[in-house]
Amino acid sequence: MNNNEIMALDHEYIMATYGRLPIAPMKGKNATMVDADGKTFIDFTSGIGVNSLGYCDDEWIAAVEAQLTKLQHMCNYYYCENAGLVAKWLVELSGMSKVFFGNSGAEANEGAIKLARKYSYDKYKDGRSTIVSLKSSFHGRTITTLAATGQDVFHQYFYPFTEGFKYVPANDYDAIAAACTDDVCAVIAEPIQGEGGVNVLDIDYVKKLRALCDEHDILLIFDEVQTGIGRTGKFFAHEYFGVKPDIMTLAKGLGGGLPIGVFIAGEKCCDTLGSGMHGTTFGSNPVVCAGALNVLERVSKPEFLDEVTKKGKYLCDKLMSYSPSKVVGVRGKGLMIGFQVSGNPKDYLHDCADKGLLVLTAGSDVIRLLPPLTISYDEIDKGVAILADVLK
Ligand SMILES: *Cc1c(COP(=O)(O)O)cnc(C)c1O
Repeated sequence: MNNNEIMALDHEYIMATYGRLPIAPMKGKNATMVDADGKTFIDFTSGIGVNSLGYCDDEWIAAVEAQLTKLQHMCNYYYCENAGLVAKWLVELSGMSKVFFGNSGAEANEGAIKLARKYSYDKYKDGRSTIVSLKSSFHGRTITTLAATGQDVFHQYFYPFTEGFKYVPANDYDAIAAACTDDVCAVIAEPIQGEGGVNVLDIDYVKKLRALCDEHDILLIFDEVQTGIGRTGKFFAHEYFGVKPDIMTLAKGLGGGLPIGVFIAGEKCCDTLGSGMHGTTFGSNPVVCAGALNVLERVSKPEFLDEVTKKGKYLCDKLMSYSPSKVVGVRGKGLMIGFQVSGNPKDYLHDCADKGLLVLTAGSDVIRLLPPLTISYDEIDKGVAILADVLK
């Protein structure tokens, strides 16, 4: 099938929940993708930060295939070696204590919220279930994670939403200090807001927030679904702040392209959820965990992370040198990059795609770049040349 035929099929049989571009990706290698019409694109999206090792990385494929031909799934009545190994990596890298395996970012956050409420219930009983979230945040699409998302546009149609969330502006310490009243059990925040506009939290703010949470026994949840797994040049973005969360969620880049979402609990609350209190059929799937293991083994290497930082800087510098007047408000870390544009950022998406480059938007006026962490300098050069051409 060509692009048009695939689009027609989609329009007839798939719910129209996405504003898709007229492109049907068919195959790829690293940050280069070919669509069903045979057109080649440079990919600065990595499937929204999912394909951390790019398209069809040979080593990753070998790891996944090896497991696929042994055993594809087993239920959580039994133990899974790959899941144990992934959890060991995550615990050692984060300095936290225990992991729960799910399948997506929303599910990871949903579980983190359950854990936080149970922790508080066990210790203080009723009346302490409120969770403070930041404005412009994004935490997922389930009824509860929509409620956790601090953007009014997500609080429509699907009433009633889960109760017990309140929202404060990011980087405003007085606001969050005032919001952390006796009914609050947790604060949830992305270290760098992704969907909301690539907004980096201030170091000082996060340090003070950590102290505030400690003072009131409020659990600090970092949603690192987008920022984790090397995306920012540190393995976890919160390493930039020098503080640790009580609960961290991860998803997107962890499986290298396979669906996985986890929440990790620190010492304080790692035994809060006991037998029968949480679960999911597909969680800790051995094939998915084989992909995640390969991602962890490679992305956690200091040399790999240094390259992510270098490439991010190279990309930004190059872009600035082409079109300094058009690229304003550049922010982010590593290969999580945002900058402001005038007009609707979606228009740029289409213009870039026409010229053979895939980019993302964020917030109302931001172009967001999340290339695969393994993108080559040659692919960066090609992509930036197209972007500069569109911006001028
Ligand atoms: C993408 C994202 C989610 C939701 O993840 P899904 O896998 O789409 O459910 C949650 N939080 C953040 C920060 C995200 O970027």
